[in-house]
Amino acid sequence: MSAVTVRVPAKVNVQLSVGGRRPDGFHDLATVFLAVGLYDHVTATPAEGLRITAAGRDVDRVPLDGTNLAARAAVALAKRYGVEPDVHLHIDKDIPVAGGMAGGSADAAGALVACDALWGLGAPREELLALCADLGSDVPFSLAGGAALGTGRGEILTPLEVGGEFHWVFAVAEGGLSTPDVYRECDRLRRAGGGSDLAADLPAPGADAALVAALREGSAVGLASALSNDLQAASVALRPTLADTLATGLAAGALAALVSGSGPTCAFLAPSAGAATTLAAAFPAAYPALSPAPGATLL
Ligand code: ATP
Repeated sequence: MSAVTVRVPAKVNVQLSVGGRRPDGFHDLATVFLAVGLYDHVTATPAEGLRITAAGRDVDRVPLDGTNLAARAAVALAKRYGVEPDVHLHIDKDIPVAGGMAGGSADAAGALVACDALWGLGAPREELLALCADLGSDVPFSLAGGAALGTGRGEILTPLEVGGEFHWVFAVAEGGLSTPDVYRECDRLRRAGGGSDLAADLPAPGADAALVAALREGSAVGLASALSNDLQAASVALRPTLADTLATGLAAGALAALVSGSGPTCAFLAPSAGAATTLAAAFPAAYPALSPAPGATLL
């Protein structure tokens, strides 16, 4: 095989319930992932050694060394199957970097699927999902796509039914937010509010039944009233201008607004494709996208 391209979607967490901090430093989550039609493309071609290149949005903030999640994915797969990680991975980015939309995770899932095909490994899906979980909490969902409940630290997936299409607009902010910083701020806000931030003291989070039903029924109004993100207050505390962004979207006709994951991208649910176009025009940099979207797909 001479070149393999895999398309991978971004995600929005329509529910992000954050439990307490565990002894291992992670937080227990109950999160509902929804894949959205905003894609990175990962192309694998034969090479001597491992080489990463990137093009597209925010490309200056994408590491091109062994720390790139796509590179780590290729190395992990090669190690698992006892082959050399000889590959040139080219990443075409459309998913904002450090935007809370799992861009790096998408590239890792894309690299796994692309290298598996290029190297002719035929890895079983369960094997790929296990490698994904080792690479990061959001990586298994980037492989799976659609909609899923994520528990544990987000890596244990239960697929969810989606009964219709949802129209989103994503307003991209200048610069990223570090996911660990946002979790630290969430813990700090909990302690500052007089509570505990420890898993031992807080109830384990669970799926929101009303939200799961709204997804199943394809009800945008139902989904709008159930959207929740426990990290939002922390993201807004670290980047106060996000409050204005959320208000702008609501004033421009969004059914609901929330910070996407750890931010700073803001997500707006629109009642129709036309309304999404109008909404996007209210921002200097905003992109309409449909959900659900398929997971990592060989093109
Ligand atoms: P999440 O939503 O999963 O928390 P995110 O979308 O906020 O993630 P990423 O785009 O994955 O964040 O980037 C986080 C950091 O990871 C970047 O600042 C960058 O340094 C590093 N990184 C490693 N590999 C990649 C990649 N392939 N694409 C983008 N960033 C990467």
